[in-house]
Amino acid sequence: MNTLYKQIPQVSKLLENPLIYAYLCEFFHEEIKMEIEKSLDELREKIRNKMTTEINYDDVVRNIVNRLKQKNKYSLRKVVNGTGTIVHTNLGRSLLSKQAIDNVVTVCSSYNNLEYNLELGCRGSRYDHVEQMIANIVGSEAALVVNNNASATMLCVATFGENKEVVVSRGELVEIGGSFRIPEIIKVSQAILKETGTTNRTHLRDYESATNEETAMYLKVHPSNYQILGFTKNVTNDEIVSLAHKMNQSRDKLIITMEDLGSGVFVDFNSYGLIKENTVKESVQSGIDLVTFSGDKLLGGPQAGIVVGKKEFIDQIKRHPLCRALRVGKMTIAALEGTLREYYEEKQAIKSIPTLNMIFKDANSLHKQATRLSKKINELSSVNSEVISIDSTVGGGSLPLSKLPSYGVSIQYKNLSTHLVEKFMRQNKIPIIGRISNEQYVIDVRTLCDGDEDIILLALNR
Ligand SMILES: *Cc1c(COP(=O)(O)O)cnc(C)c1O
Repeated sequence: MNTLYKQIPQVSKLLENPLIYAYLCEFFHEEIKMEIEKSLDELREKIRNKMTTEINYDDVVRNIVNRLKQKNKYSLRKVVNGTGTIVHTNLGRSLLSKQAIDNVVTVCSSYNNLEYNLELGCRGSRYDHVEQMIANIVGSEAALVVNNNASATMLCVATFGENKEVVVSRGELVEIGGSFRIPEIIKVSQAILKETGTTNRTHLRDYESATNEETAMYLKVHPSNYQILGFTKNVTNDEIVSLAHKMNQSRDKLIITMEDLGSGVFVDFNSYGLIKENTVKESVQSGIDLVTFSGDKLLGGPQAGIVVGKKEFIDQIKRHPLCRALRVGKMTIAALEGTLREYYEEKQAIKSIPTLNMIFKDANSLHKQATRLSKKINELSSVNSEVISIDSTVGGGSLPLSKLPSYGVSIQYKNLSTHLVEKFMRQNKIPIIGRISNEQYVIDVRTLCDGDEDIILLALNR
């Protein structure tokens, strides 16, 4: 027994092992020493519990290296987005504005009035912090914030559609990003889907003929990530609203009108020369009862689902037990309030909300940026780069067919294949995600952030 203890390597000797001291570029000396000591403590514990009969020096080293590797890597971490897709769901969707980040840090590093009414000195509601602001921006009577748009939609359907029928056009029974499918959302909300119309054409008379005693809701869904072109017909919000109005005159239980907008835009892109996307305000103005949208798509804020519309209906939604289950935390509220405040001035919002800023970058300055980066890459040995004309996409199921003309830099490295270059960049300490276009590895400069160019150059230099 005693001899086993004596075989435990010395800390100072382990610190001299090249596999371990290689980590000196990533940790303080003391941190490495601490991991060694923890590992040796574990070993002593094992000896004490008679769980080991011999000590192998290489195993001890391997154990320490594994600890350091583990310590080194966060699972969720920063990456460089060189894909040119702005609202990239796999890469975390919208980046927060500086104001939003600062507010999260301030609110979350101290106590706060999350559910405390400072005026009256009593319990308050977490929803009070942002709801009025949202209602003011979109011109609605009321607003509600929950975990994400999928839950917002589910919550609305569950509140009004339980054991009743929800009428949806066959052209709008969409799937978004694999796990969000309208028929399934309606099913888990315990409502019954009543399909109407056809894939390419749905008329108002289709909604009318689908209506019966059991009808609880007319649900419109933004097709988000696809478009039907050619011989098409869709029913407008105005038409739906007037049909519901007509039907409701002779009913006890009202038919609710609702639109799942998906992205939810506050800025009129059309007035800036981009494709027309209905703003949340325009949806609300159509007189529709409820509108739902995401916080982290074109709004450019944190993950959240926002419901806006008529107060009496939103009050009813707030009383549904699911509402409590889907509530948001202080980090979301802090980030959302920071983001919403940017919208007091639209020009300011476009400058400081990264998602909007990236959409509005002009091709000229992108060309300049790509030229500069490409030149710097070519100064490195063994790498070749060219400026490539490329299309960025908005992503996140927004403006599905609109392409934003942009520029990228291609990267050819020694005699590595395109796929090896992709892998090498992806496995960088700060991973770099580019795209492969015409068999070439390309980084679109539109989605690069401050400091990203240096990360790319450093990765290529190694
Ligand atoms: C993106 C989207 C959703 C899902 O929103 P999340 O915020 O990701 O939950 C729902 N409906 C539509 C139409 C969408 O585009």
